Amino acid sequence: MTKEMICISCPIGCHIEVTRNQDEITVRGNKCSRGEIYGKEELLSPKRVVTATCPADSILMARIPVKTTRPIGKELINSLLEDLYKTRVQAPVQCGAVIMENYAGTGVDVVVTKSLSS
Ligand code: SF4
Repeated sequence: MTKEMICISCPIGCHIEVTRNQDEITVRGNKCSRGEIYGKEELLSPKRVVTATCPADSILMARIPVKTTRPIGKELINSLLEDLYKTRVQAPVQCGAVIMENYAGTGVDVVVTKSLSS
């Protein structure tokens, strides 16, 4: 089985081919070793950084932007988004404040990406 994909580990965006032959996975088209890591991970267990907004208890903004601190398994993204949309962030809050810790035991936190004074 061969899958074509674009490495998103840097802005170059190499077109890579990832081939699985029984237990062996080979990656071609990558300009650096990060592409090999990305290709193998994308085939076996794809992950993404998630960005979203949460409701904010503030007179300045109705919603506040948030993101995961690291990529999270794609299979968890829908449940994470459902939880985020239900999570109210109380102002004042500083950029980088953790609003969810160790989501679903993954070790990944969710932080706010904008400070909000009131
Ligand atoms: S393979 Fe290397 S150079 Fe190419 S997009 Fe991925 S990280 Fe960038």
